[in-house]
Amino acid sequence: MPFMSQIPQAKVDRTLEHLRSAVRDYGRVVYSNSLGAESMVLTDLIWSEVPEIEIFTLDTGRLHEETYSLIERLERRYQRRFKVYYPDPASIEAWVHGKGINGFYDSIENRQGCCHIRKIEPFRRAIAGAGAWVTGVRHEQSASRAQAVAVEVDAANGGIAKISPILEWTHDEVWDYIRAKKLPYNPLHDKGYPSIGCAPCTRAVEPGADSRSGRWWWENADSKECGLHPKTRVVTLNKSVL
Ligand code: SF4
Repeated sequence: MPFMSQIPQAKVDRTLEHLRSAVRDYGRVVYSNSLGAESMVLTDLIWSEVPEIEIFTLDTGRLHEETYSLIERLERRYQRRFKVYYPDPASIEAWVHGKGINGFYDSIENRQGCCHIRKIEPFRRAIAGAGAWVTGVRHEQSASRAQAVAVEVDAANGGIAKISPILEWTHDEVWDYIRAKKLPYNPLHDKGYPSIGCAPCTRAVEPGADSRSGRWWWENADSKECGLHPKTRVVTLNKSVL
């Protein structure tokens, strides 16, 4: 259904076609919902127009209260439930016992270890058996994400297809869509958080700063991914949407 917005309807339609073609091409398709602004767009498109795609999210145990409230607001709006995946309790206990409750600040190795237990392992369980997973990354978000392509082989996750249907959307278009459709969103975005992850690893940034600069701000820019979006790009698939 067209709606009152500045974003070209053709762009919305292309995104929908991309999602539908992923279902045709890959069968079981899952969406890894990060609950950021882009996710509000994709949640709306998927639950309204392509409900065959399963939506899941990862509860790392260290999210902001605002993020938990957002999950509840989305579920009420769409009368659907997210599948929520949790870290393995024994792995978390062992890690915290060894590294400390906030040991992720101490080294990149520690931080990546925490991300592995709280994000990567649950993520791999969530996508197990799927033909493709959907992500809300956009080219504008960072230098590494500028290299992303619309459909690629995710070699780090068993060769599953990785679908990025809003790569070309701009920041303004994402927010235009959210406002035009009066979608729920995380109120932390209004407090200077362009990208929201775990509470201890996310902070507000100055207006105009790189949207990922508030994540793991104590590290240099080269290491700022949790492992779900490795920077090494591999063979692009020749699928019908492209
Ligand atoms: S973002 Fe921080 S708290 Fe969350 S999993 Fe990674 S290191 Fe751990």
